[in-house]
Amino acid sequence: MDLLKAGNDAVRTTCPYCGVGCGVLADPDNHTPVAGDRVHPANRGRLCVKGASLHETTGKEGRLLVPVVRGQRVGWEQALDEVAGAIRDSVRTHGPGSVAFYLSGQLLTEDYYVANKLAKGFIRTPHVDTNSRLCMSSAVAAHKRAFGADVVPGCYEDLELADLLVLAGSNAAWAHPVLYQRMKAAAREGRRVVVIDPRRTATSELADLHLALRPGTDTILFNGLLCWLARHDGLDTGYIEAHCQGFESALESARAAAPDVAAVARQCDLQPDDVETFYRWFANTPRTVTGFSQGINQSVAGTDKGNAIINCHLATGRVGKPGSGPFSLTGQPNAMGGREVGGLANTLAAHMDYDSPGARERVARFWGTEAVANGPGLKAVDLFEAVHRGDIRVIWIMGTNPAVSLPDSARVREALARCPTVIVSDCVANTDTTAVADILLPAAGWGEKDGTVTNSERCISRQRRFLPLPAEVKPDWWILGEVARRLGFAAAFDYQRPADIFLEHAALSGHENHGERAFNIAGLAALSDQGYDDLAPIQWPVYGEAAPQAGESKRLFTDGRFVTDNHRARFVAISTVLPVQQASDDYPVVVNTGRIRDQWHTMTRTASTPRLLTHRSEPFVELHPDDMARFRLEDGYLASLTLREGQFIGRVRKCSEQRRGEVFIPIHWNRQFASRGVATVLTESVTDPVSGQPEAKHGRAAIAPFRVHWHGRLLVRRNRPRRWQSDYWCHVPLHHCDSWWLAGRQPMHWPAILNDWLGGPAHLIMADEAQRRFRAARIVDGQLEAVLMVDGNPALIPDADWLDGCFAEAKLSTNSRRALLAARDVDVDDPGAIICSCFQVGEHQIGAAIEDGAGSVEALGEKLRCGTNCGSCIPELRHLIGVSVSESA
Ligand code: SF4
Repeated sequence: MDLLKAGNDAVRTTCPYCGVGCGVLADPDNHTPVAGDRVHPANRGRLCVKGASLHETTGKEGRLLVPVVRGQRVGWEQALDEVAGAIRDSVRTHGPGSVAFYLSGQLLTEDYYVANKLAKGFIRTPHVDTNSRLCMSSAVAAHKRAFGADVVPGCYEDLELADLLVLAGSNAAWAHPVLYQRMKAAAREGRRVVVIDPRRTATSELADLHLALRPGTDTILFNGLLCWLARHDGLDTGYIEAHCQGFESALESARAAAPDVAAVARQCDLQPDDVETFYRWFANTPRTVTGFSQGINQSVAGTDKGNAIINCHLATGRVGKPGSGPFSLTGQPNAMGGREVGGLANTLAAHMDYDSPGARERVARFWGTEAVANGPGLKAVDLFEAVHRGDIRVIWIMGTNPAVSLPDSARVREALARCPTVIVSDCVANTDTTAVADILLPAAGWGEKDGTVTNSERCISRQRRFLPLPAEVKPDWWILGEVARRLGFAAAFDYQRPADIFLEHAALSGHENHGERAFNIAGLAALSDQGYDDLAPIQWPVYGEAAPQAGESKRLFTDGRFVTDNHRARFVAISTVLPVQQASDDYPVVVNTGRIRDQWHTMTRTASTPRLLTHRSEPFVELHPDDMARFRLEDGYLASLTLREGQFIGRVRKCSEQRRGEVFIPIHWNRQFASRGVATVLTESVTDPVSGQPEAKHGRAAIAPFRVHWHGRLLVRRNRPRRWQSDYWCHVPLHHCDSWWLAGRQPMHWPAILNDWLGGPAHLIMADEAQRRFRAARIVDGQLEAVLMVDGNPALIPDADWLDGCFAEAKLSTNSRRALLAARDVDVDDPGAIICSCFQVGEHQIGAAIEDGAGSVEALGEKLRCGTNCGSCIPELRHLIGVSVSESA
């Protein structure tokens, strides 16, 4: 890496993955090129394995480096002219509403701000939405209904201070690993944790009580809690009377939906004693935080779920107090920054909605434009439907991959293929979305761009540039400004650097803001360039021009005064709405989708780090052993899930902790990495009526074995052309070679295809027809060039590091040759599936250590180092210890 920094100091920046927003020290010249920033309040020096691998993702391989127009490399002038021309023509012929922007929680606040201003203020299209719609828009809507503004009232410290921590629909151990480690480190005598999740996840290891409720019944559980509090003298009536409104109607609805514990237990499929215990703990613990995430948000009743939780906190007066409050765990690194600038279709700018009194005129005046867009635009799912209909004719997608992430993704691809002009700004060349783009604009990636992000606790941190812009790559704000200039709006977009944009954004937040808008960072509007460069992490709001004091905005609504018209918080009456996508005779299993520990979103960045693919290297399907028997599925073999024409193929993983009739599949794989690994083909375009967030957590499918004649693995030295054909494939890039899991329905005559698949004649061959086993390797000048391993039993094909190592040998050793034919390292025991990604420790090694007497996580750490770095694997280590003990019992 070519580092842009002064002296030998590392550059302070922020991780670009999840909403925890960890501080990172980037110092590529050092032998530890990235490290956790000890002074960052979010992580205090910790990083998870994704953050710790960031330096492995900054190479140029796979990058989009030059502008491309309809398949032809062009210069920036031409690309920008094409973009501006398409927008201008579309506005002239079809009106401003024929142009749309689809933004991303990965954009920096400055980029978001410029895109929002250009679209709503100058092109005057309201159709600006973002992938944050898929992540936390239900939490946003719930906050606005209850508090009058999209505000997370608490801070991370509250998750530590809480004596009762309730985690609803959140696998924080995998999705927010560093925050989870903070929650875990706060364990103490008397502190309790309740996990509410249909699945037993890695987070459940923290639970004193795990409520594995029927998916989609969270409102019933929390409505039941409100009733229980009312019946058992658990209400803070003083707080309700002084600071809230709408309590009686909320309680009435709750009583109709969840009158008593028995009714709750029956509807939620829980044990009454467990429900009672949860309610009693909640009632008796003043310091209670309820953290909620995608299991709550990604639902047809996501907003109601959020409000059902908030209702219980308002009813007990537990908002904005140390160790107490509802806490939305945001998925993306800058989802909150996007919300601050107004990057959702139903908001205008700086926490002003279109119908906020005087907002349209105020924003127009501030931006120096005659008028802004008329009213709210289309939310993500409706927006792409409008593209499909032909109402939207130019769409500019920035830093996101909707062809994978939106529900019914096959229809989204179809919509984009029909759209006259699809513009995609991205730092990655090949994604499912760039594949259907007309114009590709190379955008700066992490380490190259410069600006700010806001994490889940309202903390604004600098993402600093420390690498030069490669080739013709440009920052998003620059690209947007150049298009604005070509459209005739040069004066309003005359930004020289990100600081200019941030200061304008800060000024707008305070402009004519007399306390009616919670988001206010006017205190940062007068920062000097140096002040912006040096800006330390700071939570908003930041009022006035006095130098902001760190920590002064930790908690909001501490005085019970909210940002509604009458300053009272609003209870919301919640009735029961169950998931729309229910199992049926045709589609007998419920599909739960979610994240895995070592991947991020659609893998465009994390898949470039081999060690992040060692934990789970293929799409998979987790299901209960009874369901495996019911659907004739075998552990380690392939299963096919289908919903109409949509098909997902994944490797079966036996999971006794999965509820019967429900399967879990990961969201990450896409068409670049697997033949049929896109989870969203199994979810329909069903959305929450308030927030517009899709019901992404709850699909349905038919399930059956994907029967094949052979299973194989092909490894070929990096960047060789693909020559193989297979009914199933999954690409796993390694350090020295490309690797594919393959499977085929037809018998193959292997000698006939070897030349093609290996790129030339094979030199080592072993065949055992009875076992449907075949091994072949091609060696050129003593170096391994390609190897094919085929077997009737997929468990006999190794998923191990040593194969990659063979490609690094200058001259393939005799032992390696033997190992390739044996399909196992003859010198080293196969470590098994990697559990600890930091130190590459596998399941077999851990099992052997446990057999040797390492009966605790600490003992395993001492022996193998596993679990001693980021700690993300500790729940799995505990699980293995538990499994091992129960097997030997
Ligand atoms: S917890 Fe999130 S922000 Fe922190 S290092 Fe991991 S991915 Fe990055």
